[in-house]
Amino acid sequence: MKTPNPIEHIDYWQKNEETMNRIALESLQRERLMNTLRRAYEQVPLYRMRCDNAGLKPGNLTIPDDIKRLPFTTSDDLRQHYPYGLLAIPREDVVRVHTSSGTTGKPKAVFFSKNDLDQSATLIARCLIMTGTRKGDTLQNMMTYGLFTGGLVMHYGAEKVGVLVVPAGPGNSDRQIALMRDFETTVFHMTPSYALYLASILQERGIDPRRDLHLKRAYLGAEPYSEETRKKIEQIYGIDVYNSYGLTEMNGPGVAFECQYKNGMHVWEDHFFIEIINPDTGEVLDEGQEGELVLTSLSREAMPLIRYRTRDITKIISGTCDCGRTHRRISRILGRSDDMFVVKGVNIFPQQIEQVLMGIKGVAQNYQIVLDSYDHLTVNVEISIGLFDGNIEHLLQLQSEIADKVRASILVKPKVELHEPGSLPVSEGKAKRVIDNRTL
Ligand code: AMP
Ligand code: ZN
Repeated sequence: MKTPNPIEHIDYWQKNEETMNRIALESLQRERLMNTLRRAYEQVPLYRMRCDNAGLKPGNLTIPDDIKRLPFTTSDDLRQHYPYGLLAIPREDVVRVHTSSGTTGKPKAVFFSKNDLDQSATLIARCLIMTGTRKGDTLQNMMTYGLFTGGLVMHYGAEKVGVLVVPAGPGNSDRQIALMRDFETTVFHMTPSYALYLASILQERGIDPRRDLHLKRAYLGAEPYSEETRKKIEQIYGIDVYNSYGLTEMNGPGVAFECQYKNGMHVWEDHFFIEIINPDTGEVLDEGQEGELVLTSLSREAMPLIRYRTRDITKIISGTCDCGRTHRRISRILGRSDDMFVVKGVNIFPQQIEQVLMGIKGVAQNYQIVLDSYDHLTVNVEISIGLFDGNIEHLLQLQSEIADKVRASILVKPKVELHEPGSLPVSEGKAKRVIDNRTL
């Protein structure tokens, strides 16, 4: 595996902003937070009403202590005020909308002013430079273009750096392979589940990405994945994989991103104020404790969001990073609190199962979790084609190895079913890993 050479590679898009000392950074945050609160209070009836009800006036707040008293914003608020209810600028100053559908009913709409777009591209530029991408690179963007932020926001950020962007969008794997050969693609942007799927297609076509392609790195995000999956993808493609985190409500990609040290994702704290809360009580937790990430935008003009509950479970990693950036890191997202399911009274995130599977030799790229009752679960796993060699012993051994290792991790022993590669449903965007057939 290639290891980063920090001395040669460290570079910044905005060195002052990325490395400013904590005192200066926190004072900038305070200034931007006050500005955001004032604008939200003046322009958005929902925020004015909530602040009034809580007896808070933006001008009188002490930061950060009073922040804890501000009410949260939830995805339901966005749905209820769809489409324009949370807009803080005149409608004619809005130049772009993105939406996020989630699982229920009405979508959530998020608006951008010209400055918001420029800002989101700047944050992506920071992320790309941070991870070694430069003018001269070719980035194949396999995220969906359209209402989803993953395509366009990355696209404009990469163009800002001067990278050649191939706006491929997801799917049509043979065309993707042709594009990456023709244009000598060096950087990928895609979901981890599509990266795994594409690996299986490359294998089927007899293409060894390490030998036959020009890839150097990939940015994978939009859904949770484990460290084991990162390692597996790095190994298959012979590249560095960087974790990329974002959500539509906060511009999309570019909220938090790993640097070359790959030890948590730097959150761009001059643009986002972060808190970790206990998802059940709303209480703010100390640095290092695991809980739900809550974000306040500090520079968004069109639609500032205050204390937005992301539902994503993570923790803040304390301490400085050797890359020189002072912006704090968050750990890999454990999962969305919405994705957690309970079997035999145990709380389980799909990613815990994925982590075990991806570390087992013989397990291929795809898996699925099926819930039929509250006391047991089935894990469908694709395995390497070579294992279907007619020797049933090998299959039984692998089956029980998977069941035992999953039990050791989540305390519930699953039923394991083995499948041939390519037989489970695939996804080009966010994967649906859990099929919950329970009706009660
Ligand atoms: P969307 O608004 O459709 O872009 O979805 C945003 C959500 O995708 C986040 O709230 C997370 O739940 C998930 N997500 C995005 N990036 C990552 C990542 N790197 N790791 C885990 N989950 C992610
Ligand atoms: Zn770093």
